[in-house]
Amino acid sequence: MQALMKWLTRSGRVEVGRQQEMGKSMDLAHEAKARGIKYFLISYLDLFGHMRAKLVPAAAIGKMAKEGAGFAGFATWLDMTPADPDLFAMPDPASLIQLPWKPEVGWLAADLWMDGKEVEQGPRNVLRRQMKKAAERGWEMKTGVECEFFLISADGKAISDGADQAPKPCYDQQALMRRYDVITEICDSMLALGWNPYQNDHEDANGQFEMNWDYDNALITADRHAFFKYMTRAIAEKHGLRATFMPKPFIELTGSGCHAHVSMWQNGTNLFSDDAGELGISKLGYQFLGGLLHNADALAAITNPCVNSYKRINAPRTTSGATWSPNSITYTGNNRTHMIRIPDAGRFEFRLADGATNPYLLQAGILAAGLDGVENNRDPGQRLDIDMYVEGHTVKDCKKLPLNMLDAVRALESSQVLKTGLGENFVKSYAKMKHAEWNDFTKHLTEWERRNTLDC
Ligand SMILES: [Mg+2]
Repeated sequence: MQALMKWLTRSGRVEVGRQQEMGKSMDLAHEAKARGIKYFLISYLDLFGHMRAKLVPAAAIGKMAKEGAGFAGFATWLDMTPADPDLFAMPDPASLIQLPWKPEVGWLAADLWMDGKEVEQGPRNVLRRQMKKAAERGWEMKTGVECEFFLISADGKAISDGADQAPKPCYDQQALMRRYDVITEICDSMLALGWNPYQNDHEDANGQFEMNWDYDNALITADRHAFFKYMTRAIAEKHGLRATFMPKPFIELTGSGCHAHVSMWQNGTNLFSDDAGELGISKLGYQFLGGLLHNADALAAITNPCVNSYKRINAPRTTSGATWSPNSITYTGNNRTHMIRIPDAGRFEFRLADGATNPYLLQAGILAAGLDGVENNRDPGQRLDIDMYVEGHTVKDCKKLPLNMLDAVRALESSQVLKTGLGENFVKSYAKMKHAEWNDFTKHLTEWERRNTLDC
């Protein structure tokens, strides 16, 4: 890690193109020797966000870096069959992260290839395609993500801290400090990795935490987001606990969101910033925001990807007083009751996504929807400065979010914008896998159904 940090310090905050160029030429075998890396994890996320990897000894990394690590794609959550040829995960050397808690292992994010071609449904591939489209305009999207998670018991049944029972536990210092050892081990790791973490807190639900690090280029943020989830789970396990990013693990408590702060840059200038614009946002910023509003129902299939996601959005009030999640497709100023909040000049916060979202698809979806807004001059209309939780019913013709995963997936399938933006084949594969998941879910008989229907 020292070597990587020195490299970053020497080059400063390099643009991703330059960083990738430097990374591509990075000789991983040489890096292994210089940094004492014995094994590499060549890693990718499948469509459902599960992290898959091969553990490769440093002696074999030269060949793997050239040819990729082989996988049977159908055995993971990808739309493939046993008749398909080998799937190759091609590591991106620029993504190298030496595990802070096990420095003899180097983690590498990978893009997916098959038959000498990029795999269209590969989540990191989807994001890179989107970023290329923005780069053709000379633009670079930068984002920061706010990852919320619960620390629960190893068996997954309850929050891990029996004393964490306050009815309004947000920012609870006593409960935060009872988890000091876990939270600071994660934060120390981010400091060592040069991510510039700047705050950690106890969130709005009992057992829930959030940790924040600096925003950056969307691909860097997506790699870090993917790694953060792995790191948080791994460090929690070291402490005999379990970390979960499940959107709504406890029905009466606030769920885990993944708010994203978005801005667009060109040659060091923030294109969303305009002192003369309403709330300091430029015309381009409002067009981009308009694209997110226009496509939100279809986008929900990506930002809120599972059955459980719809227990977080559209949810009744939690015991803490508010759900912290949107229930309608609206935007506002510095007000946490809408889907998009403009907290400050030059950026906005997209509050729809939850902890289950695939880090690469989240960024790709935001960019595809936003670029549609720009290309088609989507007008977001007037912002709403009301408490949406209390006065939402007074807004006429307010677009609502999908009420369940099936509605969201159907909206995605009929969205020409996202099919064109993210790729027809990606949408087809993703929707097919999600329909299979929904069908599996409907095979389960719930206790609620029995209680309400036995005597019908
Ligand atoms: Mg939060």
